Amino acid sequence: MPKATETVLEIDLKALEHNYRYLKSKLNPKTKFLAVVKAFAYGSDAVEIAIKLDTLGVDYFAVAYVKEGVALREVGIKTPILVLHPQPVNFKTLIEYKLEPSLYSPKILKKFLGIAKEQNLKDYPVHIKFNTGLNRLGFWENDIDYIVQHLNNNVKIVSIFSHLAASEDAYEKEFTQKQIASFCKISKEFDEKLDVKPLKHILNTSGIINYPEAQYDMVRSGIGLYGYGNDSAIDKELQPIATLKTIISQLHKIEPNEKVGYNMAFTSDSYRVTATLPIGHADGIRRQYGNNNVFVLVHGKKAPIIGNVCMDMIMVDVTGIECAEGDEVIVFGKESSAEAFAHAGNTISYELLTGISQRVKRVFI
Ligand SMILES: *Cc1c(COP(=O)(O)O)cnc(C)c1O
Repeated sequence: MPKATETVLEIDLKALEHNYRYLKSKLNPKTKFLAVVKAFAYGSDAVEIAIKLDTLGVDYFAVAYVKEGVALREVGIKTPILVLHPQPVNFKTLIEYKLEPSLYSPKILKKFLGIAKEQNLKDYPVHIKFNTGLNRLGFWENDIDYIVQHLNNNVKIVSIFSHLAASEDAYEKEFTQKQIASFCKISKEFDEKLDVKPLKHILNTSGIINYPEAQYDMVRSGIGLYGYGNDSAIDKELQPIATLKTIISQLHKIEPNEKVGYNMAFTSDSYRVTATLPIGHADGIRRQYGNNNVFVLVHGKKAPIIGNVCMDMIMVDVTGIECAEGDEVIVFGKESSAEAFAHAGNTISYELLTGISQRVKRVFI
């Protein structure tokens, strides 16, 4: 692997393949696999990731918004794409690009049916989302009759699904099992009241790991594909696909009682060597990571971020680490997990990864 010469997010497509195969190995051979590639495939690169996953044979993609689905269609992805949170203002574009909406409320259902009728669509694939406890988006169990009454052959329900609130949390097993039981009941009732049998799905990555018995016809995985499993044992089996690398722009030798960075937030207690790196909060390294909360790796050794994170730079303490200007620095990735970095900054890998801004160049290996 060539050493970094600027700030880059290195994406390892072999690691992606490994994670996909690992997650597949947890499933029955017939269970379909939906790859969640919303938010630039969790901050990596939706297009490259989707192209790779397509060649590996995923059955479905999901994005959050219409525009994300359009980007995939524009590079020739033909696999079905579920749009988890479509906005009515984009329904026409959604149809134009053959994207499949998640319909989650009476209002959104009516709006979509209206457009489907207007455009004389026939059996247009749609998905019905049920709320079983997350209380974010979804129909209620007692909306089934309403849905069935309003349906016509402009659309075809290809799947019904729900989303777990705490599939990674062993202390919330009872809650999760209640959600699954509720989805099971909804599924039965739905099949009874409708002639077609739509696909059923409720599991995300941690669901695949912790509740494989509820895999139904399909699972929806995001974070696992990118190498994190919300569980240290599972993390050992997965490979982070993204490594954030940067370099040392300048070294400073500072004396005791000197200040570093904006607002003099760091004060040296002895002779120190600091390194300035070309990455800051505009790249997604938010201010919460400053002031000794987290470290980066310089030649495999831990160098804490000192002082306040600037917009385009951070300063790290490299005292005692042999290094030179231009040397590579690992912010997080295979050698030092995004999960640990995020945890030290009081957040989760999802937020850290999706927050790596588009200013950071993506390179693929
Ligand atoms: C984001 C999302 C997922 C993926 O969850 P992971 O924990 O990343 O596997 C699955 N389903 C829905 C509805 C989502 O919004």
